[in-house]
Amino acid sequence: MKYWRVPLDAAQIEVSRGIVHIIADRCKGCGYCIVFCPRDVLEVSSQFNAKGYHPPAVKKPDECVNCHYCEIICPDFAIFSVEAHSAAQTGTSAQQ
Ligand code: SF4
Ligand code: SF4
Repeated sequence: MKYWRVPLDAAQIEVSRGIVHIIADRCKGCGYCIVFCPRDVLEVSSQFNAKGYHPPAVKKPDECVNCHYCEIICPDFAIFSVEAHSAAQTGTSAQQ
């Protein structure tokens, strides 16, 4: 995303990074998380889950800014993000 105005201290601001976790078998394939992610992090997976839907998959893991929007918008609580630093400290990893 390009902005026509940039804050003067933009270079000093550290952007949060997130790791997305998908609970594939809860997903009903509505696609809200894919369509509304502001960083275009997700895509439709070619895999089927236990309900026969295609859950999302992470296509651009480095683009996630841990905004939690996918988590808020998911009607089935099937996706969430955690801060990349805390995930590294606890040893958790992204699920797809
Ligand atoms: S946390 Fe935000 S940037 Fe990351 S996948 Fe979800 S909606 Fe996209
Ligand atoms: S918003 Fe939730 S139910 Fe809909 S596709 Fe994404 S993970 Fe699946």
